[in-house]
Amino acid sequence: MITPYRYGPVDIWPGQRPSLCGLLKWMASDTFHWLGDDYRHAPPPGEETFTDLHIRHLRQAMGDRLKVIQFTKMQESFNGADWELWIHNRSHGIGLRIQAKKQSRKGQYGFWYWLHERSALQCDLLVHDAIITQCVPVYLLYNHRGPWTVAQGLAKGLCGHTASDQSHYGCTLLSAFHVQAALFRLVIDNDLYGHYRNISHQRLRQMSAPWNQVLCDVQEPKEVRDSRGVATLKEIQRRSAALEQSGLEALGRVDPEGFSTPSQVQRDHSDLGDAPELRTRLDETPAMGDAQTALRPLPQRVLRLLEADDPCPPEPDVPTSAVVLYDVTDAEERLVNERGRLYHS
Ligand SMILES: [Zn+2]
Repeated sequence: MITPYRYGPVDIWPGQRPSLCGLLKWMASDTFHWLGDDYRHAPPPGEETFTDLHIRHLRQAMGDRLKVIQFTKMQESFNGADWELWIHNRSHGIGLRIQAKKQSRKGQYGFWYWLHERSALQCDLLVHDAIITQCVPVYLLYNHRGPWTVAQGLAKGLCGHTASDQSHYGCTLLSAFHVQAALFRLVIDNDLYGHYRNISHQRLRQMSAPWNQVLCDVQEPKEVRDSRGVATLKEIQRRSAALEQSGLEALGRVDPEGFSTPSQVQRDHSDLGDAPELRTRLDETPAMGDAQTALRPLPQRVLRLLEADDPCPPEPDVPTSAVVLYDVTDAEERLVNERGRLYHS
């Protein structure tokens, strides 16, 4: 007898797969409980371990819908643990540039992180690299405390798929621009010794939203056939744009005193010398301006990765530990939603 492969709350029979929402929700719950348990008994693993595990789960559960390209060179010292997640229909899609941050036992995150090799704050590098790679820059927060009230404006667009014990708050997405705004305030006040104390970790956390509820791919059955997953992509793009817009508004409320990045202020105050200036959203046209109406074509680089057979492609121009490509097409395939009920998307 064939037994279903149990993935958290979802039974998956051979030939079936969970929704992205269902899997992300399960991984968030697992992270939430794992972090909570380890802080009670021992130090929990680092961000890279969680990232590796999440990519492994995605790969294992999603089959040929997922393509993972992992880069071999050790990039950690250059940019932390950045990876990219692209949700696409082979021609269009949305990319997230992700920096993971684990919540400490006391509920804080290591947002203040100066990378000496590049003489810059990790947050500014995240934004810079995201602009180059045409992604939305986000922190992926790993939490063991929750739930909280997601900020107004973000909450109303989220999908309604939640865990009964609220453990879906284990993995949440936060616009990097919120963090940039907080860091700007810190360095402009020249408060070099209050890095942890004076960042409101709790307030930033409330600006984040559960990742499954932002990246939900569950669509109610529709009259019109949508095998290209256009409606799904538009929804994900709309929610990601709202996340980003919330961060940009926070950044807009900061007076940068003529500086382009918090890194530049810090170098100026600390006499750290010059470094190549980083790109900011300030010198871009609004990245997600047309997000409500049109899907964005995939960049050439991503299309090439989609087509490439080589498991070890040449190192990318921008340091990246992995690129994960999730294909939403072929909507006739049977999905299993979070209650285990089968339906056609
Ligand atoms: Zn959902």
